[in-house]
Amino acid sequence: MSEKDILQTEITYLKGVGPNRAKLLKQELNIHTYQDLIELYPRRYVDRTNNLKIKDVQEDGKTVVVIGKVVHTEMIDNGRKKRFVTYLDDGTGVAELVWFQGLKWIEKYFTLGEEIAAFGKPTLYGSRLTFTHPDIDKLSGNEAADIPKILPVYPSTEKLRAAGLDPRGIRRLTYQLLLQLYQQKYTFSETLPQSLIQEKNLMPKHQAIYKIHFPNTFEELNQAKYRLKFEEFFYFQLQLAIRQGINKQTHKGFVIPAQSSLLLEYTSKHLPFELTSAQKRVIQEIEKDLSSGIQMNRLVQGDVGSGKTMVAFLSMLNVIDAGYQCAMMTPTEILAEQHFKNISNYAHKIGINVALLTGSTKKKQREQLLQALKLNMIHILIGTHALLEDDVQFYKLGLAVIDEQHRFGVMQRARLWQKSSSDGKPPEIYPHVLVMTATPIPRSLALTLYGDLDVSIIDELPKDRKPVKTAIRTEKDRPKIYEFIRQQIKEGRQAYFVYPLVEQSEKLDLQAVTEGYTHIQSIFPEYRVGLLHGKMHPAEKDDVMTKFKLNVFQILVATTVIEVGVDVPNASIMVIEHAERFGLAQLHQLRGRVGRGEYQSYCILMTDYHLSADGKKRLQTMVETNDGFRISDVDLEMRGPGEIFGTRQSGLPDFKIANISQDGQILQEARKAAFKIVEKDPHLRLPEHAVILENYHRQTSQKAEMSRVG
Ligand code: ADP
Ligand code: MG
Repeated sequence: MSEKDILQTEITYLKGVGPNRAKLLKQELNIHTYQDLIELYPRRYVDRTNNLKIKDVQEDGKTVVVIGKVVHTEMIDNGRKKRFVTYLDDGTGVAELVWFQGLKWIEKYFTLGEEIAAFGKPTLYGSRLTFTHPDIDKLSGNEAADIPKILPVYPSTEKLRAAGLDPRGIRRLTYQLLLQLYQQKYTFSETLPQSLIQEKNLMPKHQAIYKIHFPNTFEELNQAKYRLKFEEFFYFQLQLAIRQGINKQTHKGFVIPAQSSLLLEYTSKHLPFELTSAQKRVIQEIEKDLSSGIQMNRLVQGDVGSGKTMVAFLSMLNVIDAGYQCAMMTPTEILAEQHFKNISNYAHKIGINVALLTGSTKKKQREQLLQALKLNMIHILIGTHALLEDDVQFYKLGLAVIDEQHRFGVMQRARLWQKSSSDGKPPEIYPHVLVMTATPIPRSLALTLYGDLDVSIIDELPKDRKPVKTAIRTEKDRPKIYEFIRQQIKEGRQAYFVYPLVEQSEKLDLQAVTEGYTHIQSIFPEYRVGLLHGKMHPAEKDDVMTKFKLNVFQILVATTVIEVGVDVPNASIMVIEHAERFGLAQLHQLRGRVGRGEYQSYCILMTDYHLSADGKKRLQTMVETNDGFRISDVDLEMRGPGEIFGTRQSGLPDFKIANISQDGQILQEARKAAFKIVEKDPHLRLPEHAVILENYHRQTSQKAEMSRVG
């Protein structure tokens, strides 16, 4: 067996594994080979020289480690909730470790007198320190003498623990494997070029593998972590750099001159407000792209209300002036209709034709529209994914704008490109693509998620905007809230009431919102109340929205259908019912529906008294800030990027050690390095880059395999 192949050995051949455990390792942790085990990096480390004494531990929400001896265990069954308690004594005090689940297993797990480490967030009950479901690491046992000062703690699962593979068991396996490789004088081959290692002062791969598992000092550990994270980010960014290079080389774009007379005519005579300097800057960035002769792929990020629509419209004017058509695609019909109305309003002043195409466009009308489109009689076509249907053919599509990007995948973007050629073949010259999103994501993450897009940020709101005042309120406050709303409506304003989606049942959602509707009607008999939810017919929805916009309805009761982009500047109050059920990003989007005009606006987060810690933090964050970037940082911290963006869908790889929300700095460094190398050597042909090429191919082919399976 060649040296390389050793790592591909099936895990079942490792001493101490065998077929049963091998099966479990595959099932539970996706570990098939030696390499997989080595790449199962510790979740954390116990600093055995620096654990807390039980007497010094405080209840402050932080995770702590205490180390002590098991002095007593008992199963407590007082008729309410059965629980198992282990008493841990470290000489300065006693802590209680409590389990409510997995009792069968935990009951047999401890031996009196053994030394263990417990990790968790403790609470104080009276003066007793209690850890509920802590992570346990056994320190005594055969290998006790060998236990290093810095102890790696590996992930495990209930099934693995039952098979003897608790975190300590996994540690033993890893130790065993590394020892064996060491004895065989196996060397982990270097995966980064020497020049980069020197330039960035990185720990060599071979050393980093040993040190990530069994470091002697924290300094070593940090170096090993940095090195491995850097490598992961580097290869990921390399892929993006290469993809971007390919895009730039092969996709020519229509040349659209900047500052067209159409644009100047509109901005000098009809612009309803002064552009913010951020809007101006982004328009210039787009103009530069459009006139470059290379296909634009640009993401415009701007918080809710930052005025993305106008930026898109003004960019379209240059395109239309140059003789091309524009498309604008939105995720919902409501949004499409709204854009249609706004943009038609702007456009008719300068003789530009705008049309709307959605799933509910009537057949006859649709046919006429498609005819007109082919004849270049429609300059701007706005719609939902109905735009993607095969028979929607433009005369000459020059620019596709995609609003609220995260709902559309990359594939759909690609399909829009095809729209410019009627024979279905890939075009020689691609239409430009402008993606707009109100999901403010940290720049580092934007680079990662939309690595093949250039990013522009509208980081400024129009001058007259006042931050929305936000408050958390409970049932008892209702009378006061209703009184306040009445006052606001008297002054001419309007209000939203939003009800959450209950995941399990559409029926219940409907019930909640219709009951809410009836209730609000009975509270405000003197006003007209509208109802809007996803189950309504599009024409009905449209009618309700129009009436709300025209202030025929003073109050709108709705589900989250209004979440994205709805624009009624006169509405100044948003009441969110059961606010704790919403995610942060969603709350921010919802709140963005108010504060869009000149009036002071208010967001009232209704909730009950019993909030989970996470729920509390979400609502508190909303009260503290209006800044979408801040909010998305907190969101990212609380949930992690995978959950927010969906790993698959976003094309975000499953990093083994790197963490996008925490390692932004390393990501930037790795990105710079990767792009520099690809710029200098686009095909990685230089001898010093051979090592990159080899690893790049290995990784991308592994990934391709995985996505075929998944
Ligand atoms: P979003 O970025 O959330 O899509 P919109 O484009 O819907 O924001 O703009 C929000 C509101 O702000 C609209 O009513 C729009 O007319 C208005 N608006 C846009 N730009 C400006 C500006 N520079 N000054 C004042 N109002 C603006
Ligand atoms: Mg918008």
